[in-house]
Amino acid sequence: MQRVVVLALVLLIIAGAAAWYLGVVGPSAATLDVSLTRYDTNASGNADLIRERIGTHATIWRWDRDDSGSEDVVGYDVTATPENGLASTGTVGAWDYGADNVLDSGTVPVALQELMRTPEYAEARAAAGPGNVELVDAGLRDFVDNVQSGYDEWRLSDFQYPILGGRLPTADRLLPGAPRAYRFGVHQGFDMYPGYIGVPTGYGAPTVSVKAGTVVRADVDYVELTAEEYDEAIAISQAAGTTPEPQLDQLRGRQVWIDHGNGVISRYAHLSGIAPGIVEGMEIEAGSVVAFVGNSGMESASRGGDSGAHLHFELRIDGRYLGEGMSPDAIRVLAGPLLGAAE
Ligand SMILES: [Zn+2]
Repeated sequence: MQRVVVLALVLLIIAGAAAWYLGVVGPSAATLDVSLTRYDTNASGNADLIRERIGTHATIWRWDRDDSGSEDVVGYDVTATPENGLASTGTVGAWDYGADNVLDSGTVPVALQELMRTPEYAEARAAAGPGNVELVDAGLRDFVDNVQSGYDEWRLSDFQYPILGGRLPTADRLLPGAPRAYRFGVHQGFDMYPGYIGVPTGYGAPTVSVKAGTVVRADVDYVELTAEEYDEAIAISQAAGTTPEPQLDQLRGRQVWIDHGNGVISRYAHLSGIAPGIVEGMEIEAGSVVAFVGNSGMESASRGGDSGAHLHFELRIDGRYLGEGMSPDAIRVLAGPLLGAAE
């Protein structure tokens, strides 16, 4: 009699566990909802940047940098729930500036990889609509053609590199057009990190004017973002699915802009300070020290730290950014000589 009771108890526990398993895993997989947002960042006609929302579990970013059709996972953002067993990251994990490779599959949680191998996931992804976002307007192709064909030589000439002796950043993720998963956006400049440009740089290192011009912005009275302000800018961007211009401006931190005429403006961002005497409205020579490298506008600065310091440099042409609509390889061919970068 006692044996029967034990057996019944064991069966009850097994049945309970099975019910719990089906209740937890079954419905969450069956109701998996995948939505895709595709961006064509290099005007090739193909979507090369894809944001993929997997139900409420995760957001995955994939980037096909060379339009080869094979995408690398460059970022993810997961929400931990009792059902999905994911560790909460709060933000992107695969996008590590310290790493040499963009793709680091080891940082994608195993539970997420497993989820993405289920038939339910494959089914839901296949059922997702195209979700294209028009980043590319009709004028962008013409813009790229003009810049690349030398049509613009008369105004895109005589530049020198903003960090003396430096070369273009060696990693594609530091070039314009690279995804910025943490703010659901696309990079518009060149990130000149220590170790990536061939010459020493870092917090407090000087940056120089790339060409003679007029200083049209110099944030001499800049006040660093608080942690709350930084977090809010990121939250607004993630909710919008892109980085709106006011938030993008906040995240560039302390800036100097120099107008070189004919619609060409250089921007120096994340600065730690501005060189003495540099004020809006003044004329400046090529090669003059304008400011000092820093991390303003970055998460680390909003937390009171000084890590991650680098120059973020943009060259704006008719309101667009140099590199917009171009592949990383095309940017290297064009921008290296144009900006006077070392080989
Ligand atoms: Zn940057």
